[in-house]
Amino acid sequence: METNSTPHRDALDRLADRDGCRQALDACVSGSHEGEVVGLVAIKLEQLRDINLELGYDVGDALIAEIASRLHSCLRPTDILARTGSTEFAVILPALAGTGVPLLAAQKFLRRCTESFKFNARRVKPSLSFGVSACPEDATTAELLLHHADVALRQACRSGREIVAYGECERSEDQPNIQLERAFEAAIDQSELVLHFQPKIDLHTGFVIGLEALSRWTTDDGQSVPPDRFIKLAERNGLILPLTLWSFDAALRECQSWQSTLPGVSVAVNLSATLLAEPELTDLVSQALNLWELPAELLTLEITESAVMSHVESSLDALQRLSELGVRLSLDDFGTGYSSLAYLKKLPVDELKIDRVFVDDMLSTDEDRCIVQAVVDLAQNFGLTVVAEGPEDEETIVALTLMGCTQAQGYVVARPMPAEAIAGWLEASPWKVSTGLSKVASK
Ligand code: C2E
Ligand code: CA
Ligand code: CA
Repeated sequence: METNSTPHRDALDRLADRDGCRQALDACVSGSHEGEVVGLVAIKLEQLRDINLELGYDVGDALIAEIASRLHSCLRPTDILARTGSTEFAVILPALAGTGVPLLAAQKFLRRCTESFKFNARRVKPSLSFGVSACPEDATTAELLLHHADVALRQACRSGREIVAYGECERSEDQPNIQLERAFEAAIDQSELVLHFQPKIDLHTGFVIGLEALSRWTTDDGQSVPPDRFIKLAERNGLILPLTLWSFDAALRECQSWQSTLPGVSVAVNLSATLLAEPELTDLVSQALNLWELPAELLTLEITESAVMSHVESSLDALQRLSELGVRLSLDDFGTGYSSLAYLKKLPVDELKIDRVFVDDMLSTDEDRCIVQAVVDLAQNFGLTVVAEGPEDEETIVALTLMGCTQAQGYVVARPMPAEAIAGWLEASPWKVSTGLSKVASK
């Protein structure tokens, strides 16, 4: 199904390959003047393989072409973009004024390239890593500059940081994953990992009905690693089970403490779909609930739609067992996967969570509004709760309410916050007492 003949594809084919990149870099280095810096940014698109498998090669091809075009749009006429591997690019930045400039350029590429991408009604949030090297600081030959940018890139991929400059890299060549595993284990042990909580409200009553637990990791040198990245790392390094067990424990402990002031309020924990294959999962969930003496219905497990759909038959058993235990199941990022109605009917889920890419643009884009309405209608027909994720303003809340959406979770209600901030937020927030509509109408 690969589409080879699109104009994008042709533009991609015209980019220099790794050899061409080395030659161009060589020319830039030897032609550079006293005091000038030549920067090199190595770039890797992380999720192409998954996208090819889950959404098809045409989406993967379009994404790689889109990344090339976005990178291109950030360049000066003298900069050179090369395609150094199937999922890798390099940008040569000649004649720069200072050593910090390549890093600034990488930050610009990151911002531009990670904007969400839409292709044939499919949405993808690109995930990229960047490694930066500079001449003369890090090396004065093209070969070494390329090598150093690669070392920095590998460290970015492994450490979960988006951009790494060679100058700040650990010099020991191939840092084994064991080091990351230790950092993670230590993070769990030493409370470098914490949960933040984001409220979910009922749009008709305005009551807070639950809070989603979202993990946060700040490393001991003060760097905060985005959850999207450390979750992926944890999955790759066999650490997702300890991480999830830690989050069950921490989330249920908080939920237990809320019951005196917010009786019946539930907690949602994100469950990585790889754990659906874990034979002990139901027992572990049950033990955690017993430990905190909470009824199962106060725990919602959020699992992404695309992950469930890509292993639907094997997920079904695990979902069934969890459902029998009494926990609520939510299909997260709904609308971005491939749910067929036949499967949706079979899945023992209680909730659909509309992905925030649709909610983001629903007031300005007809197509997104139609998708939101379709998911709301689908949920109603199947007797499921429907949560809109990511409303950032009150107009969106009003529109969602009028469309029949029952619940919302987004910055307009509250950003994710540490557990100790919840009481203060509740005190100041109108959401617990008034209805969503009357709150907005009273403005
Ligand atoms: P998610 O499950 O889709 O979580 C919602 C994400 O949307 C959160 O990002 C939240 O901060 C963000 N969000 C909520 N409302 C708004 C809004 O109005 N506007 C915008 N722009 N964003 C909003 P966060 O915390 O960065 O989490 C990202 C993802 O990382 C989560 O996406 C979830 O898939 C994953 N994740 C986080 N914690 C855990 C965890 O403990 N375990 C697992 N397996 N995954 C986790
Ligand atoms: Ca979630
Ligand atoms: Ca989501």
